[in-house]
Amino acid sequence: MPYRPMPEYQTGPVEVGDNLYAYLQWDGGWGISNAGFLPTDDGILVIDALMAPSMTRAFVAAMRDVSQAPFRHLVNTHMHADHTNGNQFIEGAEIVAHEHCREEMAAAAELAAAEAAKRPAGDRGPKPFWIQDAWWEELAEVESTLPVTTFADRLTLRYGNTEAHLLHYGPAHTLGDSLVYFPDSKVLFTGDLAFFYATPLSRGHMPNWVRICDIIRDMDVDLVVPGHGPTGGKQELQDMQEYLEFMVAETRNAFENGLSEEDAAKAIDISQWAQWPESERKEMNIANLYATFAAERADAS
Ligand SMILES: [Zn+2]
Repeated sequence: MPYRPMPEYQTGPVEVGDNLYAYLQWDGGWGISNAGFLPTDDGILVIDALMAPSMTRAFVAAMRDVSQAPFRHLVNTHMHADHTNGNQFIEGAEIVAHEHCREEMAAAAELAAAEAAKRPAGDRGPKPFWIQDAWWEELAEVESTLPVTTFADRLTLRYGNTEAHLLHYGPAHTLGDSLVYFPDSKVLFTGDLAFFYATPLSRGHMPNWVRICDIIRDMDVDLVVPGHGPTGGKQELQDMQEYLEFMVAETRNAFENGLSEEDAAKAIDISQWAQWPESERKEMNIANLYATFAAERADAS
């Protein structure tokens, strides 16, 4: 794959379809995700809620520059904190997500509460490595706010004549990923089913993620808004898919040859993607794939 440098882009709203906006955040690194919104007379459809309260407040202000309509729905594309922490600040919105997204969020909140109960009051425990110091303080404000409406395979939200199709094709980046497709504008919000110009991270099922890339390639889509990085299209999706396919094939090889995860990480050479940020996700992806392959083996026996 010829390396393409990441195009520069600004943090802020950009109109990507007929009265349809992406809200991008430069530079798409750990915790710095994208969102979207459809402002209509019937209310505003919001896609994802960002991570730190200051990010969500800036996003809300950008939406309020365009529309004073009430927030009607907030779609969580998946459970990760950088897409759902801001849920409580999209006031009045009915939060919609895949049923597994809600389950994963509820389990994460329960685990966090159990961990917190073991610590002295006010002790928030260690800061996760991927959270910047500047965000850590303000994250104390965040309360887990779960989706109230869930779906299994697909759900259509209607705003006047505009349809938003929420689509789930099985576990991939997480267990409860949704695509949000606007057929009129031919725009697809992928959440973290697409990382553009960066190393993708799998917490779900990478072989199925490859299959979903094929599904997207066959969709009538002109523009993709990824979970991280600038907007793009099927070329950028193809770039990401090549990394996923490489990792699945190489890791399966290592697994079947009985290598430890550590030895697999040493053997798998991702230098062709050396210029993509977050290359440290390689080890996390190998761990996820080993769990996937071990589950397959257990199922087969
Ligand atoms: Zn994610």
